[in-house]
Amino acid sequence: MSNNFWHQRFDFLFARCALICADEMALKLFNTLSRSIQEFTPLDPAGKTIGMYCCGPTVYDFAHIGNWRTFVFADLVRRYLEFKGHAVTHVMNITDVEDKIIKGVRETKKPLHEFTGQYEAAFFEDLKALNCREPHHKPHATEYIPQIIALIEKLMARGVAYQAADGSVYFSIEKYRAAGHTYGRLLKLNFDELRPGERVKNDEYAKESVADFALWKAHTPEDGEVAWDSPWGKGRPGWHIECSAMSMKILGQSFDLHLGGEDLIFPHHEDEIAQSEGATGQSFVKYWLHGAFLLVEGKKMSKSLGNFFTLRDLLAKGFTGREIRYLLLTAHYRETFNFTLDGLQGARTALARIDECVGKLRERAGGTAAAPDTELANAFTAALDNDLNISAAWGAVFEWVRKMNRSLAAGAMMAAEAASALAAWEKIDSVLGIGLAVESEAPPELQALILERQRARQAKDFKRADAIRDELKSKGWVIEDTVKGAKLKKL
Ligand SMILES: [Zn+2]
Repeated sequence: MSNNFWHQRFDFLFARCALICADEMALKLFNTLSRSIQEFTPLDPAGKTIGMYCCGPTVYDFAHIGNWRTFVFADLVRRYLEFKGHAVTHVMNITDVEDKIIKGVRETKKPLHEFTGQYEAAFFEDLKALNCREPHHKPHATEYIPQIIALIEKLMARGVAYQAADGSVYFSIEKYRAAGHTYGRLLKLNFDELRPGERVKNDEYAKESVADFALWKAHTPEDGEVAWDSPWGKGRPGWHIECSAMSMKILGQSFDLHLGGEDLIFPHHEDEIAQSEGATGQSFVKYWLHGAFLLVEGKKMSKSLGNFFTLRDLLAKGFTGREIRYLLLTAHYRETFNFTLDGLQGARTALARIDECVGKLRERAGGTAAAPDTELANAFTAALDNDLNISAAWGAVFEWVRKMNRSLAAGAMMAAEAASALAAWEKIDSVLGIGLAVESEAPPELQALILERQRARQAKDFKRADAIRDELKSKGWVIEDTVKGAKLKKL
């Protein structure tokens, strides 16, 4: 048989393997636009850069735990894309002019930016407490008024927007559809129930009705000082147009990913598509991802039921941002998740298991460095590639913890092996973002007691040694005897 034959055969096998490997490595996501799980292929022909827009907070109050589920989900998407080698441009807008904000400004008599600034600062503190990566761009709606006006002018020129007698400018769904566009791309709408000609000035109109929505709201006395000049007179932008203007200005007319909570599908995201595609004639977003609702203690969150939690409420109960992040990351993003205080206790236990294992590995590895072991990362990647199957990913993590603990307990683990396992953990933790708990430092007077106990033990004064142990325990600390000597651990 000729050499050439074997070369061809080898090339064929090699190409086939590359194909299979490439397929196995492909990320698949549920796209609300197609209502199906699709392979994720960036618009960038090189497959490297990704534009990602996530609807940010409306800064009129502290964000609640339901909001945080969406932001932690967006952080998971971004971190996983970065883990896979993509260069992500993450944009999250700050809605700093909107109906509820105007109401807050009116009631508190504070200037607009003073009112929104306090909630914006709190939002970013909370985002940090949950260890979410900070978005690269955080555009404010009030800084994009010229772009918003330009976009509305385009819609007027294309005949899909009109100024009504009340001075406000509306988007005409009828004209948009007559121009060959589809309204109802994310959500199937029943146009028989459509009430043509009805106009909605409110940002959050009844979700069952389909009506023309406001792009520019004419100034009313209730708006007070909050107003900008425009070709249609004094007024302010509608909520939906803000997102279209900011996302396209930063990421371009077409970009890869748009995320948000499922409550934003209609009308907010549907309207974003209509405004953007109505103005540019180009496809707006390739993949729409939506995070599901969150229940608290089995019920829809409500202040009257006492199950309405901001992040601050939960921190005040003694839970950490890390525990809350972990719990929010345990459920698949498309499943309704029941968030409970018991669940947070469970998160504490689960994290302690991971910390203990990682701590032991660190001790075993000493200063040894090694390349990451591939087994954990492979199982983790296979799970997340499958529409971010986080349950399977955690399954892989805890299977790994069990395996490591077995090996450590048997005294069968070499330093290089432990270092390799640690490197693998650090690699996947770049996605999970739960890190290692910061070890609580015991105060110096307690550290001194440890030394005294050590001396007592050396002198075989076990009564004194036990008394010191009890004293530390009464102060909330427990002594752990490790290979490197006694350490204090918070109870
Ligand atoms: Zn938005």
